[in-house]
Amino acid sequence: MKITKITPYAADYEQTSKSKLGRKWVFLKMETDEGIHGWGEVGSSVAVSENFMATAIKEVSENLIGENPMDTDRLWNKIFRLFSYMGSRGFTTSLTAGFDIALWDIKGKVSGLPIYDLLGGRYRDPVRLYCNAWFPDCSTPEDYAKAAKANLVENGHSACKLDPFLEMTQFHTMYQDGFISQKGEQLGYDIVAAVREVVGPAFEILIDAHGHYNVPNAIRLSNNLFEQSNITWFEEPVPPEGINALKQVKENTNAPICVGERLYTRADFIPILENNLADYIMPDTIWTGGISEIKKIATMAEAYYIPITPHVIPGGPIELISAAHVVSSVPNFYRLEHSHVFIPEHNNYLEEPYLIKDGHIHLNDKPGLGFELDETKLDKLI
Ligand SMILES: [Mg+2]
Repeated sequence: MKITKITPYAADYEQTSKSKLGRKWVFLKMETDEGIHGWGEVGSSVAVSENFMATAIKEVSENLIGENPMDTDRLWNKIFRLFSYMGSRGFTTSLTAGFDIALWDIKGKVSGLPIYDLLGGRYRDPVRLYCNAWFPDCSTPEDYAKAAKANLVENGHSACKLDPFLEMTQFHTMYQDGFISQKGEQLGYDIVAAVREVVGPAFEILIDAHGHYNVPNAIRLSNNLFEQSNITWFEEPVPPEGINALKQVKENTNAPICVGERLYTRADFIPILENNLADYIMPDTIWTGGISEIKKIATMAEAYYIPITPHVIPGGPIELISAAHVVSSVPNFYRLEHSHVFIPEHNNYLEEPYLIKDGHIHLNDKPGLGFELDETKLDKLI
């Protein structure tokens, strides 16, 4: 069996979501000489232009035509090493993921089995989720309480994630001194307390700090939120390259720590696991290099008794479905991320929608990913 053709597609997800990010999901379709095809997702055009992405996909595709799609591990390494000298993490691993997921989809279709069966079989069905409480129109504790009641409690969720420190949003991509104003800090505490009030004591509230803080601020914020609102984790307290800073926070906070959405490949998780720097790890299926790599990261974490809880948002439908296959098959699992905002947007691009019910995603038992993208709704990537 040989790979004969790879076609990249783009899908605008600004049209139906409220996120207004102006980004596109990039998918690829891999075809074979036996008429079987697979779908992959390269991630969203977050940091690079579509032109740049299209050129890179074309270059990798030329290296895969004629290869046997069953050789998932060898082909993963072949793609990953193509860019060794210019940097293999981040963009390259996202690129690798697009091809890797398509290879797994083909492998499943050839064998007649869902991917979770090829990964070792099921530990769970359905898969437990947490909802990224993306409430872009909310700015007060009252707004958040109302939105949490409508989108979380009434939809049967039992966990959500928030970044309540609204004044720090501008520092997502431009960390400076890591400080927050007293007013902004208090607003954050009030938002979390208001959400806690409507969701009740058993609901799990996860806080995403987005790497916004310096060490003393991260320690103070996480401890106060843990004491005041019993948060379940404080995520990315400091910028992702700050391993020593993370160690200081971890040793001085009572809140459980989660990191990993900006760590790439098995290698990046070694210092986190070896030095006990996190209570949870949250690898992203696309950003780490696809199904092959996140499964290996999960197995590494299993040996340390650390649960994985894959990052997804703002990924597209193939990312969510791929992650659900992986976490179906691993013992050390906490929850998979999703967001209510993206459900209609994801399903708009699928021939058959996925089912999310009572805070769980239900996979089907069809071969491969089990879901097909609706090609008529996708645009060819430039
Ligand atoms: Mg995050």
